[in-house]
Formats: sequence, C-alpha cells, structure tokens
Amino acid sequence: MKLDVVTIGNELVLGLTVDTNAAELGRALAAAGVEIARHTTVPDRPDDIRAAVAEALDRTGVVLTTGGLGPTRDDMTKQVVAELFGKPLVTDAGVLRALEARFKKLGRWPMPAVNRTQAEVPEGATVLPNPRGTAPGLWIEDGRGRVAILLPGVPREMRGLLVEEVLPRLVRRQGRGETGSRVVLSRVLRTTGVPESALAERVGPVEDEIAPLTLASLPSEAGVDLRLTAWALEPSAAERQLAAAAALLRERLEDHCYGEGDTDLAAVVLALLRARHRKLAVAESCTGGLIGARITAIPGASDTFLGGVVAYADDVKRATLGVPAEILEQHGAVSEPAVRAIAEGAQRMLGAECTIAVTGIAGPGGGTPEKPVGTVWIGARVGDEVRTVKRVFPGNRDEIRQRAAQAALDLLRRMLLRSS
Ligand code: ATP
Ligand code: MG
Repeated sequence: MKLDVVTIGNELVLGLTVDTNAAELGRALAAAGVEIARHTTVPDRPDDIRAAVAEALDRTGVVLTTGGLGPTRDDMTKQVVAELFGKPLVTDAGVLRALEARFKKLGRWPMPAVNRTQAEVPEGATVLPNPRGTAPGLWIEDGRGRVAILLPGVPREMRGLLVEEVLPRLVRRQGRGETGSRVVLSRVLRTTGVPESALAERVGPVEDEIAPLTLASLPSEAGVDLRLTAWALEPSAAERQLAAAAALLRERLEDHCYGEGDTDLAAVVLALLRARHRKLAVAESCTGGLIGARITAIPGASDTFLGGVVAYADDVKRATLGVPAEILEQHGAVSEPAVRAIAEGAQRMLGAECTIAVTGIAGPGGGTPEKPVGTVWIGARVGDEVRTVKRVFPGNRDEIRQRAAQAALDLLRRMLLRSS
C-alpha cells in the first residue's frame, strides 16, 4: 500500500519549524508496511493545499495531511479537502459536545464562536477523536476508493492520532487486498576514519549482490553510515535479507565498521577497554571536554573511565600534564611532540593505562600556512604503545571539534583491537 504525505504550514516552508511530523510519519508508516510515495510541504495557502492534495489523490489515491486544522483563518485544510471531495461541511453533534466539554473543563466558557468551526466536518467523514487537543482528525473516503486522512499539526496530537486511529485502519485496509503484510526495514552499519569514496571502493559494486535491498551512504561528522533498506518485503524475508547483506558488508568493511544502528563509538571504546580490564583517561585541548562528555554519556562508564583534563592554555599543558616547555616553544602546542607528551602526561598524572590526547586548531582564527585551521594532532597510548596521527579536518569550528573527538576515539579503538 502506498500513500502521499502533505505537511502544511508556513512555518515549515520558511524553515522556522523543523518538519518532525514528516520524519515520524516516514518511520511509523514504513514500519507498518505502508510506503510513502511522495512527501510534499506546502504553505497555509488554499491554492497550494488544493494542488498538492489533488495531485496526491491522482497519483496514489491516498493522502495523509498534517496541519491547518485549527480554528483560525490560516487553517484551511478541512475546507479545501471537503471541496475536492465535493462534500459540504456539516456540524458534527458529537464533536461539538466534546469541544464544549473541553472548554468548560478548562474554565473557558462560553466557548469562543470561532471554535464552533472545529466541529464542522465534511459530510460522511469519519471523525478520529483527539483527546489531546481541540481539532479531531478526519478520515474522508469517496465511492472511488480515494482517501484523505487529515491530522492536526501539533506533533503530540499527530502522533497520538496516528498510533491510535490511523495505523490500525491502514493495516486493516491493507490486509483486505494482499496476502501477508509487507514492511520497510533498514539496517545501518557505522564506519569512521575512511572517506566516503574510499569506502565505496572497498565495498565495491554490491548493488546487484544485495538486490532487491538498496544501499545508501550517509556521511556526517561521525563518519559514514551505510544504510541497507528492504522495501515492502514480507517481514521475515526482510530480516533475513538484511542480515545476509549486513554480513557481506561487514566482511568487506573489516574493522572500519565499529557498530550498527545508533551505536556510539564511545560505547564501543568503553566495551573494548572493559574487556581488557584497562582504565582510560583523556587530555583534551581543542575538543574542550567533548571526548569526556561522549564517554560519560554512556551508562556505566565509571568502571572504566577515570577522568580527564581540559588543558587549553600552554601553561596548563605544562603545569598539569608536565608537557616540557622546550617542546611547546620549539614545536608549538599543535605538534607531534606535544601530543605525545600530552598523552604521556595524562597517563602519568591520572594513572590510567590507556589515554587519548587531542591538540589542534579549530578556527576560525589561528591558522598558519604550515598549520591551517582544522589541523589536529591526535595521540593515544595503550600501556607503553603510542600512536600519533595528524589530520586536517574540513568544516567549521563545531564540525572540526566533533570530527577530532571521533577520530581520537577511533585511534584508541583500533589500537585496542590489536592489543589483548
Ligand atoms: P491546532 O488545532 O492545534 O491549531 P493545526 O492542525 O492547525 O492544530 P498548526 O496550527 O498547523 O496545527 O500547527 C500547530 C503547531 O504544530 C505549531 O507550533 C506548528 O509549528 C507545529 N507543527 C505543525 N506542523 C508541523 C510539522 N509538520 N512538524 C513539526 N511541527 C509542526
Ligand atoms: Mg499551521
């Protein structure tokens, strides 16, 4: 089964409100085996709403809208859809009673006249009761099997109606036509430290091997996620094919893949440390505590993470971590000898076998021709073993800091994988 989604609101097209309804609908409908054929966002203008809904009805015959069901002049969805279906608006006695009861209960009595319009529904429509707000949802169907489902814009109300009223009806409707339900399922493999193009080369042209699944690559500051999707398959077949494709990809990705789903690299590092009975300390300059925050966000970190130092000024690097003044003078704080000394100092001062150290230039100022903005030295120690790497990260200050934190965690992860 397919449907079109139309989200309605000036604030959505202006970017003042993020369209979380579309995202939630996407996830919930896919999991229920309903495919969204197209998603459109339109402003609160009757002509635009009419065009989008009419086109959706022509294309897939089923349209789900959110927004524009309120009592004010800019809420036009109901009128426009009633017109498209050629049905007059009539006052629904049940909705009117519920509205009046709600206003009485909230002490807003008499009810403002404008709210009476919320009790008007297209003739013959099914009212989807909305206990969380004033505007009920509406299910409008005509003799040709065309369906319009209208939900309020308020995310909490939309979600409630979707789960309690809309999904059960869609699932029942779907059950009537086909045999067996169909679902859209995804599985995400997380990688980091390898650029998107190199990753594509490593994975090779797998599209034929994983068909009918699709593969998408999603780069971010955390790395590149590879998302496998099974579209409209029977649930057990979807699970089985996703498992096989994930195994195939993991084999090619080797240890560049650090986990699946929404696994955080910090949790992976903690688990590796725990399995080896090793404690961790961090010393951060340009990341200013981001790594410590990532690690302590993981429940149970206290059995493995000792603590960290934010050594931002050179004086603090010297006094707290014992970084020799000569190194800072000769090579600067963003240098291989400095990161080495920071990692070693953290190990000594904080008494941890494993350490992570980061020092870099996050910008926007402070870059030089030899050390441009984005230059970051990362170091890690596992016992006596030391590794340092220089990276030049793209992006703004925030992105550079995020990338540096992720790369530092990854350096330690890779060392731990090779140690016992
Ligand atoms: P109400 O009956 O409460 O007036 P409505 O259907 O008229 O509901 P809107 O007035 O369009 O809804 O929106 C109500 C609130 O919900 C606004 O704060 C709006 O920003 C938010 N909202 C509307 N659509 C979305 C959306 N697609 N995603 C996230 N928030 C939304
Ligand atoms: Mg609106």
